[in-house]
Amino acid sequence: MKSLSMTLLLCIVQLAAFSQNKYHLLVITGGHGFEKVPFYNMMDSLGNFTYDQLEQPKANELIASSEVGRYDALVFYDMNDSITPAQKQAYLHLLQKGKAMVFLHHSLVSYQNWDDFLRIIGGKYYEKATMVNGSPVKSSYQHDVIIPVKVENPAHPVTKGLTDFEIYDEVYGNFLTQPTIGPLLSTTHPGSSKYIAWTNPYGRSEVLFIQLGHGPEAFGNSNYRKLLRQGIEWSIKRHR
Ligand SMILES: [Zn+2]
Repeated sequence: MKSLSMTLLLCIVQLAAFSQNKYHLLVITGGHGFEKVPFYNMMDSLGNFTYDQLEQPKANELIASSEVGRYDALVFYDMNDSITPAQKQAYLHLLQKGKAMVFLHHSLVSYQNWDDFLRIIGGKYYEKATMVNGSPVKSSYQHDVIIPVKVENPAHPVTKGLTDFEIYDEVYGNFLTQPTIGPLLSTTHPGSSKYIAWTNPYGRSEVLFIQLGHGPEAFGNSNYRKLLRQGIEWSIKRHR
């Protein structure tokens, strides 16, 4: 009887230890300023994650090394253009195998001259006027606006439990999206392109992109936090 209760106790202890196992993230920044304290307060509030922070170009060095295997997901909040051919291959290789990658906000502006990046993230913000299919395209941004957000796919694990909401944030306008994206959120804000969150397949991976997330108002928005928590969790489970 004593040994049975001891076994039971051990099981409970093991179960408690297991439930405390957190997912480990690499949070990648650099190339664009942001308010660090409220950003990391938000990351700390998500609960089920531990994370390392790394700025570019150091993050791309890590991504091209075996160290990347230590992370359950890569969360990009960078705006970076510096990448070597070997590092590009590392991204492609990881995505071909299946790696959780979540891209936020100004990461859409990264790698203006790397065509594969458009196919990875599922869209492109054009910093300079560029001819696309015979027409010039130049993207835009507008800070400090109230954005009406529509949940396009309420059945998806990333948006589950969310209903249409408003957020004080920054819009991007006139950016392009790939036909491959699976829309999750949209907006009718006149300064914005229609879809503002989506999944996009690449190799054996499915990348998640969320355009929202400029500053403290967004970081503190409970809908944004829920979106981020569910988004990262979905991405990790999807690539296990
Ligand atoms: Zn911004």
